[in-house]
Order: sequence, then structure tokens, then C-alpha cells
Amino acid sequence: MHSVDLKALLTTLGSDPFDHERVALFQDPASGLKAIVALHSTALGPALGGTRFHAYDSDEKALADVLKLSRGMSYKNAMAGLDFGGGKAVIIGDPEQIKSEELLMSYGRFVDSLGGRYVTACDVGTDTADMDTIARTCRWTATRSLESGGGGDPSVFTALSVLQGMRAAALHRWGTPSLRDRTVGVAGVGKVGRLLVEHLFDEGARVAVTDVREKPVRRLAEEFPQIVVADDTEALIQLKGMDVYAPCALGGALDEAVAAVLTAEVVCGAANNQLARPDVERQLADRGILYLPDYVVNAGGVIQAAGDLRGATPQQSMTKVERIFDTTLAVLERARAEDILPGTAADQIAEQRIATAADARTAAGGPRPR
Ligand code: NAD
Repeated sequence: MHSVDLKALLTTLGSDPFDHERVALFQDPASGLKAIVALHSTALGPALGGTRFHAYDSDEKALADVLKLSRGMSYKNAMAGLDFGGGKAVIIGDPEQIKSEELLMSYGRFVDSLGGRYVTACDVGTDTADMDTIARTCRWTATRSLESGGGGDPSVFTALSVLQGMRAAALHRWGTPSLRDRTVGVAGVGKVGRLLVEHLFDEGARVAVTDVREKPVRRLAEEFPQIVVADDTEALIQLKGMDVYAPCALGGALDEAVAAVLTAEVVCGAANNQLARPDVERQLADRGILYLPDYVVNAGGVIQAAGDLRGATPQQSMTKVERIFDTTLAVLERARAEDILPGTAADQIAEQRIATAADARTAAGGPRPR
């Protein structure tokens, strides 16, 4: 019999599955599907978060990722004022190799079997067309394509929310929300990063970019000949005169080595779980660098997904996304007033909202959700 040293596994993961309401594993050998859904908290409502389709090195790494991402969704949804809890899913494997209609429909049946406690949406490796396929076997999907009556690509809203966060940081740091003539370095110009670059040029900023893929960088350079292209992320983080650094690729972009050399005064980007370790924020602060908690500024996509589920118009969702400017300022002001890090201030606000909702559910006679 195969036995697992649970304690050792938990230590490796750096994340505690028992911190979650539920973790469900699913496998369908016929279609090649292997998936994990993690529901961190349903205190505020059904757990809402995307499905990441990624070629993880191991199942343990996939589990660690989904637990971290799921917890982050609880905080993100609470901070954005949404009536949704936090959850996330991963499909293990290279989407280029194994994604098929059969696999996505099998995945849809799995999510549907959770009875609406988890609502899925797009994430890295999945798009609106995939959500349309999943919706054929699952009642609990958001961010389907516009053609099928869904809300469309959430990246449009995410890019705008990151811009609002950046403007709030500019006001806090430099006394004006304008990004004119500021230099912003964007690492990762995929769906969100590319749209962010467009907004930044509209705002009159100077922009430098990098990406591990050559094609999206080339496309941007053709469209914006003035763009600066850094050879790689290592070069970008040390760019002279950079005011804002926007990590828009995968998580863990900010580690001790990056924090030691980063030239920017502000970090504000779309990537989830940017801090490789929580104490990197302190290291950044000690060098005078202001870190904006990722889940505060990248909530645009989930605001759109929630609006989609609640029948909001795109304009109503957009208005809510624009409020991220005020939410970000509130976090930064609380941090300044209490002499704490913005990450701590944001966590306190989100945890308070989740606890209040859990109290209300308990007072109404229900079991206490996390
Ligand atoms: P994407 O896959 O479209 O883009 C990511 C880009 O990063 C790709 O172009 C990829 O080539 C590049 N990249 C990967 N590793 C890199 C590295 N080491 N250095 C430089 N570039 C690298 O994903 P996306 O939808 O644009 O999302 C970007 C990030 O934002 C992810 O972390 C995602 O979880 C987060 N996010 C996205 C949304 C959304 O609405 N799409 C919402 C919230 C958070």
C-alpha cells in the first residue's frame, strides 16, 4: 500500500490543506483529466475562482499552487466587496498537448458534482472558448464567450484594475495619480500585460517590457516603436530610472534576489502570489519600495466574472473595477496610519469582512463556514 507522510508533505507544500473547507481530487483516465478543486472559504458565498491548466512538475506542486491560489481568492473576493467566497482549480498537464473537448466536458461534470459550491472561470491556460465547452456539462461557469452570452475575456477588466491600482500608488507616493512620463516595466505581456501596456501608453507613460516568448514582444514593438525591450526579467528589474515594476507573468516573481536589486519605487502588477515568501514585502519596504498587494489590484477579472453571474452589465462591472483606485488608496492609507505593511493592512480588511459574514451565517443558525 502507498503511504504518505502527511506532515512532511504539508511542510513541502508550505500551505495547509486543513486551512480549506474542502479539497477535491478528480481523475478520468479516458480523457487524461487530472484535476484538483480547492475551496478555501464559502463564508461570503459560493467559492469563485479560475481554472488553471498547467504542466506542473509534480502533483504536489499542483496541490501547493491550488491551495495558495484558492486562499488568495477568498481575500481577493472579500477585498473587492463581492458576495463570493474563495476557490480555485487546477488541471494538471500541458494544455497544448492534452486539452480536448472530452477532457473539458469531463472536468465540467466534476465541477458540477460540487453542486454550486464552486464556480469556475478562465485562468492561465484556459480561455472563454474552454468555458463554453465546460458549460455544456456544468451549470457553474463564468467568463464564457460573448458569442455564447457570457461576459467575455476577464483580462480586459484585470488590466484596467491594475492601472487603477497603479494610479492610486502614484497619488500616494508622488502626490498625483498621473503616470505621465513615469517609466513602467511590465514582465509578461500575455493577455493582461499586453492590455496594460496599451493603457500605459494612453496615460503618457514610458514602457519597458520583457517576456519569455518572442512573438508577443515583437507584436508590441511593431505597434509601439518607442517601447523599450529588455533582454529578460533580470535585465528589466535592474532597468535604470524605472518607477513602477508590474509583474504580469506567473507567481513568485518577487524573491529575495529580486528585492535586493529592483530599481523601481513601486510594485504593482497582475500576477497572483507575487511574493515568493511573505517577508519579501518587508525587504522591499526596507529599500523604500512600495508593494501593492496583488489581490487588491488584480481583482478586475473576478469582478467581471461575479457581475456576469449576477446579471450586471459590462458598464456596471467596469464602474466597480474603477473603484479599485479608492480601495487601493484605503489600503495604503491604513498601512501608513498604523505603520504596517500594505500586505498586512489588506489582509486585515479582507479577514474582517470574511469573519463578519461567517458570524452572520452562524447567527442565522447555519454551520460556521471558514
Ligand atoms: P498569460 O498566460 O496570457 O500571460 C502570461 C505571460 O507571461 C505570457 O506571455 C508568458 O509567455 C509570460 N511569461 C511566463 N513566464 C515568464 C517569465 N519568467 N518572464 C517573463 N514572462 C513570462 O496570462 P494572463 O492571463 O495575462 O495572466 C498573467 C498573470 O496575471 C497570471 O499570474 C494570472 O494568474 C494573473 N491574473 C490574470 C487575470 C486575468 O484576468 N487574466 C486575473 C487575475 C490575475
